[in-house]
Amino acid sequence: MFTAKRDNMVAEQIVARGVSDTKVLEAMRKVERHLFVPSDLQAIAYADEPLPIGHGQTISQPYIVAYMTEAAALKPGDRVLEIGTGSGYQAAVLADIVKEVYTIEVSEALSLSAAKRLSDLGYKNVHFRSSDGYAGWPEKSPFDAVIITAAPSDIPDVVAGQLNVGGRMVVPIGDFFQELCLITRKESGFERKSLLPVRFVPMIHRPSKH
Ligand code: SAH
Repeated sequence: MFTAKRDNMVAEQIVARGVSDTKVLEAMRKVERHLFVPSDLQAIAYADEPLPIGHGQTISQPYIVAYMTEAAALKPGDRVLEIGTGSGYQAAVLADIVKEVYTIEVSEALSLSAAKRLSDLGYKNVHFRSSDGYAGWPEKSPFDAVIITAAPSDIPDVVAGQLNVGGRMVVPIGDFFQELCLITRKESGFERKSLLPVRFVPMIHRPSKH
C-alpha cells in the first residue's frame, strides 16, 4: 500500500513538476517517508505538503526534498553536509545517492531520534551531530555539497567556506519570504543563483551555554 503511494507521489508531485535526475527519483521511490512522520500522520505521509514532526518542526514537502536534492547535482562518491536533520528523511534520501552524509541538528532530541531511526533502518553512511549549524562541521570538511533545510537570513559564510572548489550549496535564504538559492564555489569566489520561492522554518542561533 505504501509502495503504491510512494510511486504515485513520485509520478504526480515530482516527475510531473520537472525533476528528472534518475538517482533522485529512485531514492524518493525507495525511502519510506511514512516511517519519518508521527504514527498518527502515516496515512498522509505521501501527501503533497510538509508535515509536523514534533518540537515545532516539519518534514519538508516531498517535491521540495527532491528538488533540492537534484539542485545539489550529486555524484555517487560525494560527501555531503546537511544542516537541519529534523526527522532524518532528507538525510536518508541523500544517503541513498552519495557516499557519506554528515547531518547537524540544533535540537538534541531530534538528532537522537533521527539517528536511532536511520540506524534501525540499516543506514551506515549517515553521521549525526547536535550542534549549531552556523559553525558547519569543520573536522569533516571540505564537502562536495551542502543542503540546508532551515532558512538563514543570509548565506552562512562559515558553512560556505567548508565547500570544495566546485562544491554546491542549496539553501533557502530570507526571513519570512525566502528564495531557494544555489551557491557554487568557484576558484575565484562564490556564484549565487536563485531557484524558487520557498517557506522553511528559520535557521536559529543556539543560545550559547555558560
Ligand atoms: N531536513 C528535515 C526537515 C528539517 S526542518 C527532514 O528531512 O525532516 C528544519 C530543522 O532545522 C529543524 O529540525 C530545526 O531544529 C533545525 N535547525 C534550525 N536551526 C538550526 C541550526 N542553527 N543548526 C542546526 N539545525 C537547525
